[in-house]
Amino acid sequence: MTISNEIGALAQSLWTATAPEPTVGPVLGEDLSADICVIGGGISGLSTALHAAEAGQSVVLIEAETPGWGASGRNGGQVLPGLKENPREVVAHFGEIGKRMVAATGAAPDLVFDLIRRHGIDCGARQEGWVHAAAAHGLDGARDRAAQWRVLGVDIHDLSAAETREMLGGGQYAGALLDPRGGGVQPLAYSQGLAAAAAKAGVRIFAQTRAEALAQGSDGWIVTTPKGRVRAGQVAICTNGYSGPLDQRVKRNVIPIRSIQVATDPLPAEVTPDILPGGQVVSDTQKHLLYFRRDAGGRFVMGGAGAYTDAALERAFDRLKRHALELFPQLKGQAWRYRWGGNVAVTVDHLPHLAELAPGLHALIGLNGRGVAAATALGRVMATRLGGERPEALEYPVRDLKLIPFHRFHRHGVKMVMLWAALQDRLKIG
Ligand SMILES: Cc1cc2nc3c(=O)[nH]c(=O)nc-3n(C[C@H](O)[C@H](O)[C@H](O)COP(=O)(O)OP(=O)(O)OC[C@H]3O[C@@H](n4cnc5c(N)ncnc54)[C@H](O)[C@@H]3O)c2cc1C
Repeated sequence: MTISNEIGALAQSLWTATAPEPTVGPVLGEDLSADICVIGGGISGLSTALHAAEAGQSVVLIEAETPGWGASGRNGGQVLPGLKENPREVVAHFGEIGKRMVAATGAAPDLVFDLIRRHGIDCGARQEGWVHAAAAHGLDGARDRAAQWRVLGVDIHDLSAAETREMLGGGQYAGALLDPRGGGVQPLAYSQGLAAAAAKAGVRIFAQTRAEALAQGSDGWIVTTPKGRVRAGQVAICTNGYSGPLDQRVKRNVIPIRSIQVATDPLPAEVTPDILPGGQVVSDTQKHLLYFRRDAGGRFVMGGAGAYTDAALERAFDRLKRHALELFPQLKGQAWRYRWGGNVAVTVDHLPHLAELAPGLHALIGLNGRGVAAATALGRVMATRLGGERPEALEYPVRDLKLIPFHRFHRHGVKMVMLWAALQDRLKIG
């Protein structure tokens, strides 16, 4: 099975091929009312809806395709703690609430694995740790980050070059951090499991139902879709890297960047024990980031930067396979059956954004390529806010969305940034 309504070059997804059961809700075909309407059925929207329903609110969720269709069902399945920015920087910038941001996102993987257990989600979940592997020029930064987390009581281990090589079964990294909070899931199965849990908690989920317009009514908001409207006291927009014209402030607050992945068939017995024998997930500190792991079926999965044109995508997939062979020469001769990709939503400050655009109109966007755990945790924060909690008391700040200047030229900008990142990695600077 491939990803429906996606270009062929990006649709051969391992996760679509191996998810237990696609959950396809009905299409909205009538007018409905609810306390809350969530727009977007990725992890952000599903976690918001689930937690709001568990808190007793009536919730309608509408998804333009099917739950998990976007980045949530396509990602590397790496469940990673924290934000892209280090704890010290977050606290220095945000003060008291910064401490809560660090705590909530640091504990986000535990929330994911707890939800999986609590709702019996069958998604190959393993919490064996996250190896953050560093090239020589990234090692000091990585060690500093580990020290910051250790001050907060997190038991992160520094790995030497030899220990890193042993844990990975390959690669030539200068060292690494082993963060025990991280782990891996089959991300589409996780997203579909969240949808099933939300439906069980009473959320009415509609698929193939795109929000086309938003209007303020006398007692809340009216969300218009092709065949029905939802009247809701509050609306949560969770459309991330797939944000369209529905709300320009949301769309122009993030830049969608493509990330792509390749995966093999299950590795044969003579190769399998070698590569990541402990089942950790790995990402590196390169500016042109590589991330890799094995899935529950023993396939090797590797991801990195994507591209926009067909020809450039071909080159990007080839580059990814080349990197995989450089790190793990024992993969030589393995067929790469799967190749796919999706949109990461990047923000200028590299932080996710929680916003209230107007009274009762909320947004959670900009997960910056680290959303499996963070979107789960911030969806819960969003649900708390929708339940009436004051912004100052939340675990994450509610901020105004700033428009990115020259947004429609972003592809050119992204290309320049990617070229610069690749050059910095090659020159070992930055
Ligand atoms: C290839 C790739 C690899 C990644 N790897 C990792 C990883 O290993 N670990 C990690 O933590 N993060 C990873 N990420 C990032 C992570 O997947 C995202 O941060 C996270 O899934 C964001 O979830 P979301 O719900 O905010 O957005 P999405 O999952 O993108 O969901 C947005 C949804 O909104 C829907 N939508 C859009 N417009 C409308 C509308 N008008 N009406 C109704 N619905 C609408 C879309 O159809 C989509 O389903 C990766 C991302 C990609 C693309």
